Amino acid sequence: MNYEVIIGLEVHVQLHTKSKMFCRCSADYANAVANTHVCPVCLGMPGVLPTINQQAVEYTIMTALALNCTIAEYTKFDRKNYPYPDLMKGYQISQYDAPIGYQGWLNIEADGREKRVGITRVHLEEDVAKLIHHNSDREAYSLVDVNRSGVPLMEVVGEPDLRSPEEARQYLMKLHGIMQYLGVSTANMEEGSFRCDANISIRPEGSPQSLAKVEVKNMNSFRAVYRALEYEAKRQPKAAEAGERLIQETRGWVEDKGVKGMADYFEEICQVNKEIPAKIISSWFGGPVSRILNANNIYISEFRKRVSPEQFVKLLVLETQASTTLTTAKYVLEQVFNTGKDPADIIDEQGLTQINDTGQIEEAVSQVIAANAQAVADFRSGKETALKFLVGQVMRLTGGRANPQMVNELLKKKLGEE
Ligand code: ZN
Ligand code: MN
Repeated sequence: MNYEVIIGLEVHVQLHTKSKMFCRCSADYANAVANTHVCPVCLGMPGVLPTINQQAVEYTIMTALALNCTIAEYTKFDRKNYPYPDLMKGYQISQYDAPIGYQGWLNIEADGREKRVGITRVHLEEDVAKLIHHNSDREAYSLVDVNRSGVPLMEVVGEPDLRSPEEARQYLMKLHGIMQYLGVSTANMEEGSFRCDANISIRPEGSPQSLAKVEVKNMNSFRAVYRALEYEAKRQPKAAEAGERLIQETRGWVEDKGVKGMADYFEEICQVNKEIPAKIISSWFGGPVSRILNANNIYISEFRKRVSPEQFVKLLVLETQASTTLTTAKYVLEQVFNTGKDPADIIDEQGLTQINDTGQIEEAVSQVIAANAQAVADFRSGKETALKFLVGQVMRLTGGRANPQMVNELLKKKLGEE
């Protein structure tokens, strides 16, 4: 099936003003000593009165006009509450239902033709504090630098009109140029003055219904945006074809800096062994690998240091050769991750090889049948689900090591006999 890619971008731009958005603190925080550009307003003390920065409003109107937006006659600020340590007061002052600019557009070049990309809104808000995470073998802690809190931040939300990573890059470069031309921002991506979040989904060509949206955050170079979107634009159709249900989720993107991304790791695994179907690798990525990343709050680069592509391939081969069951293989992956040991060694040491011995499985089957009279009766009266339960019981009894196909067959045989 052919899929169409749908991309919408949200860009946060730090405005180049002298003072912060709602107080008189200097917004020139980058080279300042931590927590020196602060006052009761941007520290979020109770009882303070934020005052709007006129220059920031003017810059936002300039940008909105350049993006062909309608400028609101009436606008206001709102509190966006969320609990996160980078927010001193527990809410961000932003604009919710009355943005400064709305319903604009930006023309880009795509495939040699001009294309119009809708601009949903341009609004004004404030930046949050900066968290500095320290992690070593001996200790782990996070520091908060409030200097960035309250720096004017303009958000440009685009319509989901982009149809390829290349179009997204064109859009972003054009937008970036406009910011620099207007002089409203340094738009320095490395320093985080111009940051991009993307929503990307796919839909079968011609269908109005797109599959689950994936949000990619934390991209601070054109290259990172392009590569992250390329990755998703390839991953999602593959996953959909493999029959995986795409879930709505937020993914982080870590650009190289000597760090390997998901796509690279995937590629490396394919290189080590070209026989393994991409479908299988992607289901491992979507399931057990993601679980380990989430549970340990790490990126794939960290994972790769502990589980090399070669080790990963070894494990996949052991599983496909039926030396071990899928359940066991998932457990072994965690063990490899935790200990750095070879998958085959872990399986040997812990006696995790698959049980393919008929006698041994029959024995477990008999035990389960004897202990679960109700489920047996249910199955015989036509309840197919009872079989699943019984299979599960046999697997449990064998520590997940019995060959599932044999369990199925032997169970059916035994149940039919009596
Ligand atoms: Zn302040
Ligand atoms: Mn925002």
